[in-house]
Amino acid sequence: MAYAVPQPPQPAVAVAGGDPFPVRRIYCVGRNYAAHAREMGADPDREPPFFFLKPADAVVADGGTVPYPPATQNLHHEVELVVAIARGGKDIPVETALEHVFGYAVGLDMTRRDLQNAAKKEGKPWDMGKGFDHSAPCGTIRRVAEIGHPAKGAVRLSVNGEPRQHGDLSDLIWSVSETISYLSGLVELAPGDLIFTGTPEGVGPVKPGDRLEGSVEGVGTIAVTIG
Ligand code: MN
Repeated sequence: MAYAVPQPPQPAVAVAGGDPFPVRRIYCVGRNYAAHAREMGADPDREPPFFFLKPADAVVADGGTVPYPPATQNLHHEVELVVAIARGGKDIPVETALEHVFGYAVGLDMTRRDLQNAAKKEGKPWDMGKGFDHSAPCGTIRRVAEIGHPAKGAVRLSVNGEPRQHGDLSDLIWSVSETISYLSGLVELAPGDLIFTGTPEGVGPVKPGDRLEGSVEGVGTIAVTIG
């Protein structure tokens, strides 16, 4: 089929021992750990989960470089468990939600915090604070068949070897199955969707040359350098 302009490449994330995972959409959950909600000045009571998106082509592979983005003085790291969807659906019940999961990875929800904070204050969209180029590093996906469904385990991030973030999957306000169920009531999920599930406390700024190393116990690791 011919197109009017060159067809964009299909973004993809590596899969351990298998073919790459084609990325369709990247959904992110906001404020899904109580301690992080508090550090962002929000009430961590169990308000319904809320979502934002990043462009599919914002993914950066493990070992890659995140160019320091324009228009910010305050680029932040957020380490997160990432859910890769194998089977789509809408109005998915919590009880069967995990059957839709292909696997899990460790991701970094890179954030232009100054732009996000200004948008929040003015009631404007978060897109330019969250959905910029190279804003979604995502490590190698490991399949459910290999690692199961991790429900507890340390979530960590270090910058230049210095610990910055530390939380535990068991502290997620909305579990993976609840998140899938809720999100699928808002939009129809499809194979190729990624869900960044939120970050624990300890977010902070990075600068060019920094090396970020994230990990989720039982899932894997990701390392990127800020360009
Ligand atoms: Mn996040």
